[in-house]
Amino acid sequence: MIYKTDYHMHSRYSDGRSIPEDYIAPAIAAGLSEIGFSEHLTLFKDLEDWNMNPVNISPYINHIENLRKNTKNIIIRTGLEVDFFAGKEAETKEYLSLLPLDYVIGSVHYLGEKTVDVGPEFYEGKSIDRLFEAYFDSVCAAAASGLFDIIGHCDLIRIYGYKPISDQEHLYRKLAKTMKTHNVAFEVNTNGRNRPLADFYPDRKFLHIFREENVPVCVNSDAHMPSRVGQYFDEAYELLRYVGFTEMAVFENRVRKMVSF
Ligand SMILES: [Zn+2]
Ligand SMILES: [Zn+2]
Repeated sequence: MIYKTDYHMHSRYSDGRSIPEDYIAPAIAAGLSEIGFSEHLTLFKDLEDWNMNPVNISPYINHIENLRKNTKNIIIRTGLEVDFFAGKEAETKEYLSLLPLDYVIGSVHYLGEKTVDVGPEFYEGKSIDRLFEAYFDSVCAAAASGLFDIIGHCDLIRIYGYKPISDQEHLYRKLAKTMKTHNVAFEVNTNGRNRPLADFYPDRKFLHIFREENVPVCVNSDAHMPSRVGQYFDEAYELLRYVGFTEMAVFENRVRKMVSF
């Protein structure tokens, strides 16, 4: 059996539908060896309904800690999915340094005042090429910030299927090189399959670039409900094997190890 992990899951502490306990049985049934919760934490913006209220950070961490102690047959990790904001690196670093986490996923949801997954109207009347460039610039800055262990859905800008005119290979190449240089993992995020895009992040066409640049990988579901834990993982691992990956990243206390699959 392959050692499988799912480090990207949301419970009711942010915008998931269920309490953390409800994710355990589906994770075991999916053959996972480790799972981790990664609630949305968005500092420096007004609180929105998809974010965890920062006052709940300690109850959340304690909740997952207790769940870990009381659960057999599967390892439970504590993580966060933190929004990256350029210019706020020092404050973010200080905030995260106080928390006992196994890993931090860094994600770019915001371009300006809006999130790129707010709705297709975000894209209307804009240059898709320029949006892709701006999005990748921000993700590169997140990867270079030293704040994160994993970069979440690194090409979320594809979510509604808008396609740039120009070739995007150079954007992926630069991002993969930046991740390698700054020792950050990327994720194959299977939740894109449930979105209008109907495929994984990142674009499978460019997955070989991450292999060529030797960037560590994990496979994550970004589940917002228990039924999606480990969803489409067989296909994701097959895809990774096809482009030449043989190991994946696991995390404990913000230290990464590589495990063969
Ligand atoms: Zn996200
Ligand atoms: Zn997420």
